[in-house]
Amino acid sequence: MERQAVQRAREAFLSGRTRPVEFRLQQLHALQRMITEKETEISTAVKQDINRSQYDTPLLELIGIENEIKLAIEKLGEWAAPRPAEKNILTISDEVYIQPQPLGVVLIIGAWNYPWALTLNPLVGAIAAGNAAVVKPSELSEYSALLLRALLPRYLDKDLYPVVIGGVSETQDLLRLTFDHIFFTGSSSVGKLVMEAAARHLTPVTLELGGKSPCYIDKNCDVRIACRRITWGKFVNCGQTCIAPDYILCEPCIQGRVVECIRQTLLEFYGADPKCSPDYGRIINQRHFNRVMSLMEGYTPVLGGQSDASQCYIAPTVLKDVPPHSRLMQDEIFGPLLPIVTVSDMDDAIHFINEREKPLALYIFCTDKKATKRMIEETTSGGVMVNDVMIHYTLSSLPFGGVGQSGMGRYHGKHTFDQLSHHRACLVRSLGMERVNLARYPPQDRRRARRARMALKSPLIDMSKRTLVWAIAATVIGCGLLVTLLVILLIAAGLNCTCWYWRGFYN
Ligand code: NAD
Repeated sequence: MERQAVQRAREAFLSGRTRPVEFRLQQLHALQRMITEKETEISTAVKQDINRSQYDTPLLELIGIENEIKLAIEKLGEWAAPRPAEKNILTISDEVYIQPQPLGVVLIIGAWNYPWALTLNPLVGAIAAGNAAVVKPSELSEYSALLLRALLPRYLDKDLYPVVIGGVSETQDLLRLTFDHIFFTGSSSVGKLVMEAAARHLTPVTLELGGKSPCYIDKNCDVRIACRRITWGKFVNCGQTCIAPDYILCEPCIQGRVVECIRQTLLEFYGADPKCSPDYGRIINQRHFNRVMSLMEGYTPVLGGQSDASQCYIAPTVLKDVPPHSRLMQDEIFGPLLPIVTVSDMDDAIHFINEREKPLALYIFCTDKKATKRMIEETTSGGVMVNDVMIHYTLSSLPFGGVGQSGMGRYHGKHTFDQLSHHRACLVRSLGMERVNLARYPPQDRRRARRARMALKSPLIDMSKRTLVWAIAATVIGCGLLVTLLVILLIAAGLNCTCWYWRGFYN
């Protein structure tokens, strides 16, 4: 079944119908129509999967996908066009450019926490870049996966973009087949298996993984506003967001205030009993419910802690004075638990972050620009945000992806197009001007070798349109000045002659 779908996708790709930009645009328009027409059905499916509010799915997933499609439609001509490259003296009269080309068949494996964004955003880039794509949504967000399988063939080319449904064994079957790129979103442990499988075929991978994203709150910032933003980012989607702040780092002197501000915000967002709030979600399944609950063992939360296994409900929970080496601080929490770890100052926070795996996101709440800059410079993470959380994900201009254990590769906007394209190096020469080449041919002597060395060492010359326009403008202005100077000199010389003549006449 999987094999046939991949085979059909490859045959459709080899037919060449994804090559014209017009075809890709038509598919992107169709995908856009699907999102607009099926918004309610999609939101209902996510509600069934994860009890996410009907209002949140458009805000958290669908608008982002629509923006990605709109951008791709608007910019595709520019992205897919040959990109002029710098030349050296040897290639000055040649055509030198980079041509983005489709890779072939891309396998997109999604996670369940944002089942639409994590499959369709990579798909937008795959379509734009002219690839075929096999989409494998997570089996855990079952309603969304089934709806995606029903919808995509109604809007897009059936052979080029099949949806394969299944769990671990189906994904493993897929991974045995040959793809031209694998775009995986999920946990670091499965990411390693995907990379291992890809290595067997030397297939390049993009791994969008998770990790523990720290959130540092400086004692001098507005703690109330910081906690409001952090509370939203941590508890939206019931804490199951790859870039959610995983834990808070702050000085002991503000810990009590942080807890109090989160308490007030939770009350404002979800009321006295979050279980009854239509805006508060659920844990995806019993296995993850047990996993998150086990992380709390041995701790008394300062806020929340209530749960209901029958509904996979865990209340928004805050734990303070969490020891840095506790279980809570080992793996990504991926649930509504927010530990607070105290540090002595910003240096200590930087040290704490650098001692651990490189995170997917780092959040800094600080109003001191110099200190903020230092923290950005002295740490690393997939992305960094100052004075807010998660919003960097919404900017298509910024590359989204991890570093180290939090992943490899990047996407969103043009970054997805580039990630899923082959950047072909193109140098087109003529058979003329053969004398220029003599220096590199045998038999060599000192003179020829010197010439060849000089040519090879020549710097790169920017031959882009802008530079050429500047060069032509400079030449025109230069020539103009030269001509003016010549005219002035001629006039001066003429006047001089006249003077001599009249002087001679009077004498
Ligand atoms: P997961 O790794 O369990 O599953 C992801 C996908 O891999 C699913 O489609 C699943 O069917 C497949 N899979 C699972 N086990 C497999 C195996 N043994 N062999 C082959 N395929 C297998 O991840 P998840 O639970 O769906 O998602 C949660 C994780 O994803 C978290 O770690 C989170 O941080 C991460 N995530 C990252 C991003 C990002 O953009 N970086 C976004 C969302 C989620």
